[in-house]
Amino acid sequence: MTKDWKTRTKLVHAGIRRSQYGEVSEAIFLTQGFVYDSAEQAQARFIETGPDEFIYARYGNPTVRMFEERIAALEGAEDAFATASGMAAVNGALTAILKAGDHVVSARALFGSCLYILEEVLTRYGVEVSFVDGTDLAQWEAALRPDTKAVFLESLSNPTLEVIDIAGVADLAHKVGATVIVDNVFSTPVFSRAIENGADVVVYSATKHIDGQGRVLGGVLLGSKEFVRKKAEPYLKHTGGALSPFNAWVMLKGMETLDLRVRAQAAGAQALAEALEGDPRLARVIYPGLKSHAQHYLAMRQMGSGGTVLSLDLKGGQEAAFRFLNALELITISNNLGDAKSIVTHPTTTTHQRLKDEQRAMLGITPGLVRLSVGIEDPEDLLDDIRAALAAV
Ligand SMILES: *Cc1c(COP(=O)(O)O)cnc(C)c1O
Repeated sequence: MTKDWKTRTKLVHAGIRRSQYGEVSEAIFLTQGFVYDSAEQAQARFIETGPDEFIYARYGNPTVRMFEERIAALEGAEDAFATASGMAAVNGALTAILKAGDHVVSARALFGSCLYILEEVLTRYGVEVSFVDGTDLAQWEAALRPDTKAVFLESLSNPTLEVIDIAGVADLAHKVGATVIVDNVFSTPVFSRAIENGADVVVYSATKHIDGQGRVLGGVLLGSKEFVRKKAEPYLKHTGGALSPFNAWVMLKGMETLDLRVRAQAAGAQALAEALEGDPRLARVIYPGLKSHAQHYLAMRQMGSGGTVLSLDLKGGQEAAFRFLNALELITISNNLGDAKSIVTHPTTTTHQRLKDEQRAMLGITPGLVRLSVGIEDPEDLLDDIRAALAAV
């Protein structure tokens, strides 16, 4: 039944489990453990755990399971495993399948903590990692080898919003038998068609659009039943990255409004990008929904939207960017994204501070660049705030 539902119906109903009380809102099963009727039942459950049977909250929990089934239904994935944060999901997806001597190809433009795992953690355990310009299929093709076990990419990069062709990369990676892992946070679960495009594993930080109201951390990895239950689950359940049932409940509630929020945010981002493009105080307005974006057509094919984030490059570098941030009255300075509240951040001095100047230059992260995550406020109020702050620069 779930399979035939449209997105907004799935987001409200998929995965629901009701207790004997018939509650309308999903119950929070705030319990670590589960009681067995008999010693024999406990033994049987440890041999094989049925779909609605649980042993210990680090392995699974009814509220967490509701969240996993709901996000799997949305993504069109066979199964999902929820984690304590987005990073636990990224780490789990990679570490569960890699061993010393394996090779990984990754796009270079990555969220800081993802870069840390690929550059510093995996390599410490004897995994070789090659970095490529993710937008250049020729570089992927050249880097892939018979021993490449996984490829990793963020389909929409942070903060320069370059679009990576998931289908193109997957075609090349599958020729050498590599598992394609896509961190699809910036594309959002609403606009994601990653599995349809050939991704084997999709990862989200649920902290972003899925909660969408700045409350809790969470993450999830999605893929085939075989990958999730046979490869990821054994690793994740023994290494302690489990999602709290309370946070799973917050995510379930977030999912009910996810489609409404994300579409409103994307419409706001599109309106702001169009209104600000060509402003003489801006060197660049970067938004995949703009025709001027180098990969506009790819973005439309892959996501059908430009997403909820845009980046503005202020003339006048860091000084101008700081004056702009400090002059904003409605839009808050923070480094989260995907929130109902519009949020602005200066990547050079915060999220990407750790990078060397050359690395930032290579990624197009200029000192004047400001990342704007558009919330669900009225876009006209946001535009007024931005225009007033630009005037104050
Ligand atoms: C935020 C983010 C993560 C990490 O998620 P947490 O929930 O903060 O652990 C990973 N990848 C991308 C692209 C992100 O934006």
